Amino acid sequence: MIEIRVGEFAEKLGVHRNTVRNWIRSGTLRAANSVAKRYFITEGELVRFCRLQGIPESVMAQLMGKEVTVSPGKEEIMVQQSLRVPEVKTLGSRANTLRTDPQWADVCLTCGSCASACPISGVDGMDPRKIIRMVLLGRIQEVIDSDWPWKCTLCGKCEEACPMNVELLKLFRKIRWLRDRDRVPGPLHKGVLMALRRGNNLGIPRSEFVGLLEEVGEELAEECCPGFRTPVDVEGADLLLTINSKEPFGEPDDMKFWWKIFYAAGESWTIPSENWEGVNWGLFTGDDDAVRIMVGRIVDNVHRLGCKKLVLPE
Ligand code: SF4
Ligand code: SF4
Repeated sequence: MIEIRVGEFAEKLGVHRNTVRNWIRSGTLRAANSVAKRYFITEGELVRFCRLQGIPESVMAQLMGKEVTVSPGKEEIMVQQSLRVPEVKTLGSRANTLRTDPQWADVCLTCGSCASACPISGVDGMDPRKIIRMVLLGRIQEVIDSDWPWKCTLCGKCEEACPMNVELLKLFRKIRWLRDRDRVPGPLHKGVLMALRRGNNLGIPRSEFVGLLEEVGEELAEECCPGFRTPVDVEGADLLLTINSKEPFGEPDDMKFWWKIFYAAGESWTIPSENWEGVNWGLFTGDDDAVRIMVGRIVDNVHRLGCKKLVLPE
């Protein structure tokens, strides 16, 4: 059994003492109360914890009070064979071995880096740090009813700036999802329902859409791309292009920008006649089921037409 003081333990790991307290409180580090703000940890538990967090063997040995031998002139550290554990593999640049369960923001230091990075911090009192604190303090209904999570643009700058890798975006989307659907602001939820029913956010019928694509294609051929015809449902095309429904609805000429590039590059490409919506509003309303269905439909289109690549201009 090893007895630790939170401050010393934190110092050896190079983390804040609150992080250690949070690990203990959340059960990430299983420790029993001792006296005078000390804790008991079994050796096995410490090995398990260090493996999970990817803590180097040399540090693990120090935490255990084991002897550490450093070869002269080298950084090689020898520890007891019994403590040797396989290195923890992490994926990608977001890996942070010191986080516990950032989804729940329990490692937040209230440092304010997220607020500094947020482009809308201060608008109507909005501040990502305040949202995190409200969640931690259990003010759940208040935060669900608040407009703050809806003012957020989901740009992700706060998450990039967070030294503890708190997954703020996941949290904000979850908060949005917890709001009753009839209280989702603006046309967002209606757009999601429309997309599920008709395959695009604005409910444009297939015949109208295909007719418009042909018409705009003919214009393009006359303007600058001789012989151009809009490729709809072309099997075996390399690229499958999705469309933002606001373009065929209100700004059809905007579709020409991509088409001109494909024409000039001699690309093999196509637009599906159904389920072509490239803007997934379920992302903004926190509706993961809708996101899944809409993404699934696009993937089905790719398979149905045998395309090799997907283009999401939005
Ligand atoms: S940047 Fe991260 S740790 Fe700092 S206040 Fe924001 S959520 Fe908390
Ligand atoms: S994701 Fe939202 S809270 Fe975070 S920086 Fe962007 S706007 Fe601000």
